[in-house]
Amino acid sequence: MFIAHLPAGYLISKAMVGMNHLRRLSQHAKRRLVVAGMIGAIIPDIDLLYFYLIDHRQHGHHSYWTHLPIFWVVAMLIWAVLFWNRSRTWFWLGTVFGSSALGHMVLDSTAGGIRWLYPVSLEYFRLAHVQAGQSWWVMNFVLHWTFWLEIVIVASAGLVFLWSRRAGYICMAGKSDLYSLYR
Ligand SMILES: [Zn+2]
Repeated sequence: MFIAHLPAGYLISKAMVGMNHLRRLSQHAKRRLVVAGMIGAIIPDIDLLYFYLIDHRQHGHHSYWTHLPIFWVVAMLIWAVLFWNRSRTWFWLGTVFGSSALGHMVLDSTAGGIRWLYPVSLEYFRLAHVQAGQSWWVMNFVLHWTFWLEIVIVASAGLVFLWSRRAGYICMAGKSDLYSLYR
């Protein structure tokens, strides 16, 4: 995946913020959760720095722990144990962050391949194999059908963003009408 991780994180965190017990949070708290989700959605690819600068492209970056679902599941469980009773704010920030990182694993399973059964198996699971053929490797992915999936995710996130802004304006307009009653 190239362009869909950030918008997917936006969609995942918006969906989580819409859940019953989080719906009552302030707009500021909801915004913080959405930002956490968007960072979580792209953080696994920070391993590209290691891939290029330290590992010198010796191993595929999907083999690093940052792209192992088991790492994120265990990290989320530890986070839940640490924060569930101490701070619901931090619990939800970590849960939304981790869920978006797991969403990253799902999206990377379309063509890149993810080791879903690690450490039991080292096999990469992917929906489709992208054939090489273009002189610039990125074009192999851009011209593949999975890129349409990315476009759908980007478009959906754009629509949800516009819809929430509109809902926010209506809400603000409603409030200002209410205030005008008390002037
Ligand atoms: Zn990735």
